[in-house]
Amino acid sequence: EKNDLTQLKNLYAITIDGHQVKLGANVGTIQDVMNAKKNGAECIGLYRTEFLFMNRNSFPTEDEQFNVYKTVAEKMQEKSVIIRTMDIGGDKNLSYMNVPKEDNPFLGWRAIRICMDKKEILHTQLTAILRASAFGKLKIMFPMIISVEEIQYLKEEIEKLKIILENKNIPFNSEIEIGIMIETPASAIIANHLAKEVNFFSIGSNDLTQYTLAVDRGNDLISKLYDPMCPSVLRLIQQVINTSHQAGKWIGMCGELAGNEKATALLLGMGLDEFSMSAPNIPKVKRIIRKTNFLDAKKLAKDVLSQSTSKKIINVINDFSKNS
Ligand code: PEP
Ligand code: MG
Repeated sequence: EKNDLTQLKNLYAITIDGHQVKLGANVGTIQDVMNAKKNGAECIGLYRTEFLFMNRNSFPTEDEQFNVYKTVAEKMQEKSVIIRTMDIGGDKNLSYMNVPKEDNPFLGWRAIRICMDKKEILHTQLTAILRASAFGKLKIMFPMIISVEEIQYLKEEIEKLKIILENKNIPFNSEIEIGIMIETPASAIIANHLAKEVNFFSIGSNDLTQYTLAVDRGNDLISKLYDPMCPSVLRLIQQVINTSHQAGKWIGMCGELAGNEKATALLLGMGLDEFSMSAPNIPKVKRIIRKTNFLDAKKLAKDVLSQSTSKKIINVINDFSKNS
């Protein structure tokens, strides 16, 4: 088993008939980055920066953030690292930030909404990322986007910060790629407009499921309703993948679904370009991809997308994995 893992680590995630995808890791700490490499991650598809902000008494300074981002960039060398800006709010709170109590925190002052209202948080983080981009292949990703105006505003802010750095002769990658998470139904629905503004998309299936179904992802009373592999969520995902490809942009997924073996052949067949997951899931997802025929996976996706219930979808998927 151990030998098998070591061997697998150096193999590509490529189907029998030659369709290649990228497998990345979701990380929150430097320790996670080492684990990602050990499991053969080809990139960091999601670096959750909020952990840098949690369990402390004040905001991390620009230098503190810069040092962490630089370390991650250097550890991954030529491999890309997608840094997601602070995703606080919802169920993740900061003791040192006075967030008023909200009736619906997941629909409230969260993630990019906080950063756009508190510009110093945004500027500090973006400047730290830009500075670190001189040391590796960093990309910037914004969470919880719902409109074109938001991403246009954020891009303008990045341009202003670049000019400040330039004037100070501080190096950064002026071509740094910018992407957004597709984790609200709004962003999925207007993906054609959003695609024109960014270099890439990453589907946040955790929140996309929660918001599409109006099912709180952390509420045990309704956990049986929380189903990313249901007709509505899968149709939305398929639409976004198609739209993204029509615009000539690659698209990944960094929600839990990307690391779920039951969904691997399906997501492959739907056309997903990059799967980012918790590192220990990478080998088993890679094994499945290497045993799958892309043409078969495409047929599977078509079949699944025509089903009317989750139960029928699971049956189609089970039949597929039995026969392959
Ligand atoms: C998601 O919503 O799918 C996601 C990856 O972000 P998080 O789980 O951090 O909200
Ligand atoms: Mg999310």
